[in-house]
Amino acid sequence: MRRPLIAGNWKMNGSKIDAEELLRGVIAGVADMNKVDVAVCPPFPYLYVAEQMLAETAVGWGSQDVSREEGGAFTGQTSAAMLTDFGCRYAIVGHSERRQFNGETDSIVGRKYARAVAEGIIPILCVGETLEERESGKTEEVVGNHIDAVINLSGVEALAHGVVAYEPVWAIGTGVTATPDQAQEVHAFLRARVAAKSREVADQLRILYGGSMKPGNAVDLLAQSDIDGGLIGGAALKAADFVSICQAAQSSV
Ligand code: PEP
Repeated sequence: MRRPLIAGNWKMNGSKIDAEELLRGVIAGVADMNKVDVAVCPPFPYLYVAEQMLAETAVGWGSQDVSREEGGAFTGQTSAAMLTDFGCRYAIVGHSERRQFNGETDSIVGRKYARAVAEGIIPILCVGETLEERESGKTEEVVGNHIDAVINLSGVEALAHGVVAYEPVWAIGTGVTATPDQAQEVHAFLRARVAAKSREVADQLRILYGGSMKPGNAVDLLAQSDIDGGLIGGAALKAADFVSICQAAQSSV
């Protein structure tokens, strides 16, 4: 049985005061949930706030990115070791916004994944196709390449230390959600891709869905056999909505 994970990706939103208020709402809202892992990924400057406020709670925290380098002269980057200094349990890697706006290739994402694992951080590897790729029948090829980038560099065992998030690019921040069937189809494909290398790793691997997941569609998405949680963008910025998605995950078990 895979334990669901609901992770909030706050992106570049809010202020320090907003972060504190949001964290207070999440802490109070999920306090009694014992069947789901809950995490938030605030902007880098607020990781300290997360560490201060979440340390005594069951809510985990993580970053939205991590450097592929170990350390040194890499201005503006943040190493995995620095993230562990701030108690991060997770790091999102390969988010489509970073692939699109920061030119991150599969090989860069694979190295980021490896750096996170090397420091004991759980990478949340984002994979997903654009609308154009879906419409030209390339979904499996694209998400297959995204996951192979990790397998080829670090071996399938590396996936035992991470989480995958299927995030169709056309569903991110658009209000258009993949239907439960569409999402399940890709999740099952990803699990089969991993199972071809290791059935054991595939059976344990948590594959989250991300892309306009909200309180109103979370129950149906989380009911799918290969959907093990959610990576939540917009709805993670409102404590009540995020908590309601966590509740859906708690009830799905
Ligand atoms: C995301 O960017 O990871 C995401 C899932 O965003 P949204 O929920 O807003 O679509």
